Amino acid sequence: MPKKKEPWDDAVGDTPWAKRIPPAPGSLRIVQAFVNTADLGSSRDDLASPAALADYMARWKLLPAGTELSDSDLGHTRAVREDLRSLLRSNVGKALDPKIEARLDLAAKAPMLRVRFIGGARFEPAGAGLDAVLAGFFQVFAQLLIDRRWPRFKACAGDDCGLCFWDASNNRTRSYCTLRCSNRNKSRTFRRRHPRNQ
Ligand SMILES: [Zn+2]
Repeated sequence: MPKKKEPWDDAVGDTPWAKRIPPAPGSLRIVQAFVNTADLGSSRDDLASPAALADYMARWKLLPAGTELSDSDLGHTRAVREDLRSLLRSNVGKALDPKIEARLDLAAKAPMLRVRFIGGARFEPAGAGLDAVLAGFFQVFAQLLIDRRWPRFKACAGDDCGLCFWDASNNRTRSYCTLRCSNRNKSRTFRRRHPRNQ
């Protein structure tokens, strides 16, 4: 049977990180791509303005093209993105600030999720607009916990990276998005610990 075309199939191809990091399975890649609109090591931020955020959401077919978004929408969305990154980094052993959990709790409170039974039981955001999109991201996290796949969804431990990746390894012990990132960070740690060897 031919694979059903998903809305993200077109959008994922033109994202720079996707050339290095394999896309996470299924709809997880929407959240992966969202987190990867920025990284910790550069000033790159694909969500640099309300218009850029609206374009991004339209490209991923999450909001209708031409949706007007405000500076406060942008600030909220970027804050949620960084909190989700911190949550994903807790899966590579990074400490999670309890304040982040509390903030995400608050962010997930307003956009309600409902259960749909037609077409297979699932959670679905009850509403529209940016809040519903963010609720959809939260729903992905909740579903991962239910499926017990949560420990595989991670953000890279690299201090200059933090990109989201799916750990498909058998023992789920990967902490870095790529081997290159792992080697770069290990040699940096080595140089820090053995400054005389430089
Ligand atoms: Zn990395």
